[in-house]
Amino acid sequence: MKRDQQSECGACGAPERLLLHNLRHRASYRRLCTNCVLKNHQGLFCPICLEVFNESPPSHQRLICLKCPSISHLSCSSSSSQASFTCPPCSNPNFSFFNVTPNTSNKKPKSTPDHQGGSNDHDPNLMKRVIDKEAAKALLAAAKIAAASMTKAAAVARVEAERRVKEATLTKKRAKEALERLAFLARKDKDLKSSHTQIQS
Ligand SMILES: [Zn+2]
Ligand SMILES: [Zn+2]
Ligand SMILES: [Zn+2]
Repeated sequence: MKRDQQSECGACGAPERLLLHNLRHRASYRRLCTNCVLKNHQGLFCPICLEVFNESPPSHQRLICLKCPSISHLSCSSSSSQASFTCPPCSNPNFSFFNVTPNTSNKKPKSTPDHQGGSNDHDPNLMKRVIDKEAAKALLAAAKIAAASMTKAAAVARVEAERRVKEATLTKKRAKEALERLAFLARKDKDLKSSHTQIQS
């Protein structure tokens, strides 16, 4: 395993040894952290409740962010007017979907006990892996998006492979036809020459 290359997020460089998702993004395979998966796939999930859409909600039940293609459930948003709605990441530049480090968290964790078995609290290099409910939802959403992206990539790869096989078959057929044509012309040429020879003799 090439751990050096794979132990950090391919987009933000965050060291997420355990929690990187494999996915195909912008025509290449990448490993991204939960936050980057979600931030790079706006419109596939509600950024408020983190539900991944099977199909996007009907227009009267959704809000589209003014600054990005993100789609939120109308029922999840505190704002009810499309005119002023921006999604959580666009509303707050420091927003992160995935907060497992209390010191970078921009909101106070409601139910996360801060001082429970935290012997690593004082070591800044050791992240305290407290995954609260919100983080778990983000992780699940990112995993679903990554899985869907890989399934799609596999389908694309299969179609591409089939196309190449067809092309190869066609090329072979053309080559065979060309050879047959050549053989035919050679035969005709020979016949012509032999008939000449017959006339001359
Ligand atoms: Zn990242
Ligand atoms: Zn929602
Ligand atoms: Zn937005």
